[in-house]
Amino acid sequence: MNEIDLRHLRRCVELAAEALEAGDDPFGSVLVAADGTVLAEDRNRETSESDPTRHPEIDLAKWAAANLPVEERAGTTLYTSGEHCPMCSAAHGWVGLGRIVYAASSAQFAEWRAELGLPASPVSPLPIRQVVPGIAVEGPAAELEEVVRGLVRRSAGR
Ligand SMILES: [Zn+2]
Repeated sequence: MNEIDLRHLRRCVELAAEALEAGDDPFGSVLVAADGTVLAEDRNRETSESDPTRHPEIDLAKWAAANLPVEERAGTTLYTSGEHCPMCSAAHGWVGLGRIVYAASSAQFAEWRAELGLPASPVSPLPIRQVVPGIAVEGPAAELEEVVRGLVRRSAGR
């Protein structure tokens, strides 16, 4: 993970904070092309759209399916504040997107949620590579652990 990766991850954390301000869960993601161009970004919209599947990772996979030529998808990198859930990992794999870089892992979120007394996710926190074996994955980013953990703590206090 290099400085460019961290810059994109910091934007994901900003989007996660925007989601929290809007009453949604604090998650944000950015899709970047092979040449470094930011193609699209999104944030969690579960509460505001009354749809628990409105995770930014699956929304960006669907954006790519609609807008990105098949031959460009494998060269992309999907940055995200939190590791993909199995639903989003599967969408990423089906659409054929490339590397994933996340700030905090599903295991970290599960641990933090348990510490805060929040209910466990209804979906198993399977690591991305258990769902999409062939994909390159990097994370967590120790530099961003405390800020992401702080967002989870704030979401618990709503
Ligand atoms: Zn998801």
